[in-house]
Amino acid sequence: MSVRTRADLDQLPAYVAGRTVPGSIKLASNEVSAGPLPSVVEAINRAATEVHRYPDIAATKLVDALAARLDVDAARIAVGCGSVALCEQLVQATCTENDEVVFPWRSFEAYPIITQVAGARQVRVPLTEEHALDLDALAAAITPATRMVFVCTPNNPTGTSLRRDELERFLDSVPSDVLVVIDEAYREFVTDPEAPDGVELAQQRENVASLRTFSKAYGLAGLRAGYAVAPPEVAEALRKVYIPFSVNALVQEAAVASLESQQELKARCDEVVAERSRVRGELLGSGYAVPETQANFVWLPLGARTAEFNEHCLDNRVVVRAFEDAGARVTIGTPEENDAFLAAAKSFPAA
Ligand SMILES: *Cc1c(COP(=O)(O)O)cnc(C)c1O
Repeated sequence: MSVRTRADLDQLPAYVAGRTVPGSIKLASNEVSAGPLPSVVEAINRAATEVHRYPDIAATKLVDALAARLDVDAARIAVGCGSVALCEQLVQATCTENDEVVFPWRSFEAYPIITQVAGARQVRVPLTEEHALDLDALAAAITPATRMVFVCTPNNPTGTSLRRDELERFLDSVPSDVLVVIDEAYREFVTDPEAPDGVELAQQRENVASLRTFSKAYGLAGLRAGYAVAPPEVAEALRKVYIPFSVNALVQEAAVASLESQQELKARCDEVVAERSRVRGELLGSGYAVPETQANFVWLPLGARTAEFNEHCLDNRVVVRAFEDAGARVTIGTPEENDAFLAAAKSFPAA
């Protein structure tokens, strides 16, 4: 006899991680190429001698540092083992069987997995023709069974960002007992002055939470920490469903040190932003359609040619993230890495 696992797990889509190919340039997972800041590596090294001790379960130092940095009451902050864990905790905290989670699609690939594992129902709302979130359609998809809506801005994998006024109009239309989760994993790369600030909105509204992460701009993807800014009751619910000690001792120190390095962070993000506009400009000039992006990646909606493009990039030792029959997402790396990608893109035969 074999162990009985849940039958519905057979239908669960697997999370496809960006591939690492030795000897190739990895532009597949939206990491920053520059690595963690030097001061942060020192903090990790110092913390390494203490890993026989359990981490602070409440991550007090990190929560207090975030509260100070963001000028937010600490009671509104919850940390998690990456913001993907916070996504899962939010579904767990709001949904039981047959409750609905509404999200744009295509968007962050963890949303369907997390929703299904929690036993809730997925409601996928297609993007607009311009690869942006369709807020009217998201609002229309909300029913009495809806408990949560994910709003990913800038959207992964398309890079498009919402504007503050359209998001506020949307929030006005959402019933007050439905939680809207603004997933802002790429917020540090946003340069549009009209873009919304989820942390601000989460403090102004009773049913809005903002999720941010140390994985992307801060360069700590391998250590795992993210945070939520939410109404106090939502932050408390997040703490209730937190896996004890899952924000480890190293990342607590690394994240605090990262928050102290705002100038270096800014310089890094500026470089990514400059390269982002160069890469997009060259792609547009070569005839590719590339939606305007506010993140550290570009989206090439290649449809049926995606697999072929992916193979061509691999042949040129560049690893991108291909979404079958939809498009390729390409992370902005160093200028040299981007040049290698652009060379591959320019030598891809036109259809
Ligand atoms: C990368 C990403 C996350 C999760 O990052 P963590 O490493 O789990 O903090 C969350 N949302 C979106 C949209 C992302 O792209």
